[in-house]
Amino acid sequence: MMSNISLSLDEIFILAKNAFFKNGCDEETSNIMADLVMKAERDGSLSHGLFRVPAYVSGLKSGKINGKGNPDIKTISASVVKANGNNCLAPVVLNKSIPKLIKLAKENGVAILSITNSHHMAAMWPETEIIAEQGLVAIACTSYKPAVAPAGSIKPLFGTNPISFAWPRKNKPPVVFDMATASMAMGEVQVAKREGHKVPLGTGLTKEGKDTTDPAEIADGGVLLPFGGYKGSGIAMMVELLAGALVGDNFSYETAEKDNNDGGPPSGGEFILAISPDKLSDTDWDTHSSKFFDKMKTMGDVRLPGERRHKNRLDKGPRHINEDLVNKIKSLS
Ligand code: NDP
Repeated sequence: MMSNISLSLDEIFILAKNAFFKNGCDEETSNIMADLVMKAERDGSLSHGLFRVPAYVSGLKSGKINGKGNPDIKTISASVVKANGNNCLAPVVLNKSIPKLIKLAKENGVAILSITNSHHMAAMWPETEIIAEQGLVAIACTSYKPAVAPAGSIKPLFGTNPISFAWPRKNKPPVVFDMATASMAMGEVQVAKREGHKVPLGTGLTKEGKDTTDPAEIADGGVLLPFGGYKGSGIAMMVELLAGALVGDNFSYETAEKDNNDGGPPSGGEFILAISPDKLSDTDWDTHSSKFFDKMKTMGDVRLPGERRHKNRLDKGPRHINEDLVNKIKSLS
């Protein structure tokens, strides 16, 4: 039977920090990573909290990730910041480059942060939310390694390619969505297989390329599909282009060719756009968009994306963490 143990948010931070610090990260990197992991657990973003620590450690141990490195960050025009991660973990690169992006977007109305050579396997909301908390609209995306077939194919080409969007609100948390463009995470397909549940048609294909509701047929040699058929396929393609050729980094299939397959996050790019509604809109955009959100919320069971996390965040109490996972992370320290 799976058993959980209670850990305070501080204990989660320390557990993660020790694992990073003892595996080659300097103090600053360890603190940034532990803070990210703690915030994921706090918000109930569980697939990207402590669960990811062993994979990060694999990448540090193999030497693929530089836990003591420093990104090179250059402002190259009024609206472009370029960050070469130098194989740092993406949260470190983000921590140092986002303040520059925010400054340029506020001054010029719009700015882009182009990130290369950094290792991303986290959720995307931490970057868009922090930008929106400064009164800016934000869009971020990154690719990974092939797991998803483009519409019309039965072979993977796209990563699960998450995209996040955040809309600022005065005196309220931003409205944030953060979603993979795959119909379902492979981890969830594996859970359905273990528990004997079917998955919806459109989740993935068998290895012969047939539609299936059997998660085993997708997990064992089959392939995931993008959400929403060819429409999601278009968005997944856009993510490949924005986080790949546009910023000057790899497409998912190139990432896979270069990765050492140590289980840790591969090196890749990220695209982040920040826009100032104060500069773009002559109207009271905050009141205007609040009315829109209020209307949305009167329409049946509608909730705003991000609301689940923000509600979880209000709970400052301990979190219940899988005991095997806690022991595994302790053994890495
Ligand atoms: P979900 O499908 O769980 O959620 C996607 C978004 O939809 C969230 O913003 C969520 O808000 C919102 N949402 C969920 N249910 C509802 C609802 N009923 N009404 C309105 N909004 C809703 O996320 P995914 O499984 O697609 O992705 C999980 C995470 O994995 C993301 O954080 C993503 O960034 C990350 N990821 C990272 C990758 C990487 O390479 N770095 C690769 C792939 C994914 P809320 O949070 O409030 O529930």
